[in-house]
Amino acid sequence: MSHDPLTGQESSGGLTVKVPLIPEEGTAGEWTVDPARFAEGAHPIALTGPVSLAGSLYKAGSAVNFQGRMAATLALECSRCLAPFTLPVEGEVNTVFLPAEEEGVKAEEPDAESIDAQLYEGDEIDLFIPLRDQVALAIPMRPLCREDCKGFCPQCGVNLNEKSCACVTPTGDPRLAALKKFIR
Ligand SMILES: [Zn+2]
Ligand SMILES: [Zn+2]
Repeated sequence: MSHDPLTGQESSGGLTVKVPLIPEEGTAGEWTVDPARFAEGAHPIALTGPVSLAGSLYKAGSAVNFQGRMAATLALECSRCLAPFTLPVEGEVNTVFLPAEEEGVKAEEPDAESIDAQLYEGDEIDLFIPLRDQVALAIPMRPLCREDCKGFCPQCGVNLNEKSCACVTPTGDPRLAALKKFIR
């Protein structure tokens, strides 16, 4: 009944795959990942629902290639008006897993020159690591609730998306502001 013979554990909801169970011709899989997993750690990612991942795995010697796509919906706060909004994102997740013991380096120190490579120990790879990286990369540096968000007035603080105000100049002097309107 399990649709995912690779993990063997349907209930875990994990993204670990037993390397010996990957057939030589490769295999494909789909995963649905609990958003709570992304809320953990030093750089939590807020999501509105589960993250989906689909892709194919194939072995090349002791290396394992994963090529797939992810889709998620980020829960963000506008950098201009602070309004909460959601942003659907998707992207490729391409990684090669290399066995740590053959690299001669510890798993805590992945090869810096190949950021898409992950080291794995034992006979299990964890797709969560590259998935999390890709979801993190999809977060905009300056999230905007919409392209033309007007943000707050620096003078009076009203949300300019909702209403306009009389502030025109940095002085904030309403009489001068009114005057400048006419000069323009
Ligand atoms: Zn905004
Ligand atoms: Zn204002």
